[in-house]
Amino acid sequence: MEEINNFIRTIIEKDLEEGKVSAIKTRFPPEPNAYLHIGHARAIINDFELAQVFNGTTNLRFDDTNPVNEGAEYVDAIIKDIEWLGYKPDNIFFGSDYFDKTYEKAIMLIKKGLAYVDDLSPEETTKYRGTLTEPGINSPWRDRSVEENLRLFEEMKEGKYKNGEKTLRAKIDMASPNINMRDPVIYRILHVPHHRQGTKWCIYPMYDFAHPLQDAFEGITHSLCSIEYDDHRILYDWVVEKCEMNPAPHQYEFGRLNITNTVMSKRYLRQLVEGGYVTGYDDCRMPTLVGLRRKGFTATSIREFILGTGLSRINSTIDASLLDHYLMEDQKMKANRLMAVIDPLEVVIDNYPEGKVEELVALNNMENPELGSHKIYFSNKIYIDKEDFVEVKPNRKRKRLALDSEVRLMNAYFIKAVSVDKDENGEIIRVHATYDPSTKGGDAPDGRKPNGTIQYVDAATGLKAKFNLFDVLVFDEVEGENKTFIERLNPNSWDIKEGFIEAEAINTNPGDHFQFVRTGYFCTDKLSTKENLIFNRTCSLKSSFTPVK
Ligand code: ATP
Ligand code: MG
Repeated sequence: MEEINNFIRTIIEKDLEEGKVSAIKTRFPPEPNAYLHIGHARAIINDFELAQVFNGTTNLRFDDTNPVNEGAEYVDAIIKDIEWLGYKPDNIFFGSDYFDKTYEKAIMLIKKGLAYVDDLSPEETTKYRGTLTEPGINSPWRDRSVEENLRLFEEMKEGKYKNGEKTLRAKIDMASPNINMRDPVIYRILHVPHHRQGTKWCIYPMYDFAHPLQDAFEGITHSLCSIEYDDHRILYDWVVEKCEMNPAPHQYEFGRLNITNTVMSKRYLRQLVEGGYVTGYDDCRMPTLVGLRRKGFTATSIREFILGTGLSRINSTIDASLLDHYLMEDQKMKANRLMAVIDPLEVVIDNYPEGKVEELVALNNMENPELGSHKIYFSNKIYIDKEDFVEVKPNRKRKRLALDSEVRLMNAYFIKAVSVDKDENGEIIRVHATYDPSTKGGDAPDGRKPNGTIQYVDAATGLKAKFNLFDVLVFDEVEGENKTFIERLNPNSWDIKEGFIEAEAINTNPGDHFQFVRTGYFCTDKLSTKENLIFNRTCSLKSSFTPVK
């Protein structure tokens, strides 16, 4: 297992050495307005593990200061996802629990002459703000007296004004080169009920004001966030200082995680669900943690992926196949390996007694004999994958069954194809073969080598199963192509195969992980039952990405 090691760890080590902090406290602050995705995993894993290595603590804090879009459904889902990743928050808090304390701090700023009630409309506020190259203009309401500001702010709170009619702004510097410092709005009027506070409030603090205060109320030492907040740090520090928060929390930024051919923005994920392009947030093609889990990614594989791909202050785009790599690393020695045939072709063994079913043995994981073994079966009718048969053996070194050519059926016998039955279109519907009884268990006494080893499923005991094969859901933008997000949807992102799996699979439960030999890593779907087995392909065995060490 990878240990966390990155530039933020170095910062924390130095802070501890210099005695700037004694106990490390971090927090993960999601907005409860969507399901968590793999990008969030980068934040979660860093927040928790950076505290853990120093015996510190981590709070989960729902950033629910904006009542629009937020809901309890997301709160529960986020708690579950974090638990699934293997972390336990030391506390679960809600930003809205601090509304009273946050309001008091706003009063403090007004009294210090550092905040004022502004009557500019949202459009005017934008206009007065200036641009990157031009300074802003002071609002005509900037110099209201402390008394007047206190009265108006009280009236805002009491609901005397409509949405947008007034705001409370920090009085900083309309000429600051950093636009965030040009008298940012710190409270706005929103006549919207809150999922926890009901109609108690009709004014809500803005993120840039609420967040540093919440961090300080909780005694957070290292407040980690993604890089787009870099130019908000100066405001974070201003709020902490002017509101006299002690000890002061500090903000550190890291680059966001992007993955090739994967959309992660909440807006898009919601559009996919609401537009019916996917079956829900836990559709296996979604980059949500619930989706990835259903598809078969393990918490360990996600942790190793996040830590293995490192952290810097620059946003990074990681190749999706790297996640597959970490899943394979995690499951290689752990997952039971079964034989499944996802695109079946019937093979009749002409020289095997009709009605006889023979028991053979297969290791659960040939690379890890400690996992034990299970029974497999053999009879005169079996299935192999269509890909594993070709009438005429090509010169290429492709290992498969062909007429007059022998293959090893894994853990069973050598068979040789002798003829084919075709339908009226010339499609092969059945292969006739003979087996060599002396090769039982998979080796020939005369030492001869077969033309490869393939998996099979015995027809007498095998189980029907559905196999979900997934591909990219939304392709990345190609420069100059100007396609919308919906136009970039892959029409072939989900293929359902109906095939067979060996009898051993009858006891599988949703969430079980397997390697189906020569086929890929699979996970039993949440809708799978004994009567209707469904497996999701997590990844194929071919995507063998090797990370650069
Ligand atoms: P939005 O901006 O759409 O509201 P968000 O991605 O900022 O969404 P939050 O719920 O605010 O979502 O995220 C919680 C934390 O997760 C934030 O600190 C954010 O920086 C971090 N985070 C979100 N997406 C990523 C990502 N792709 N990579 C790294 N960190 C991320
Ligand atoms: Mg956000």
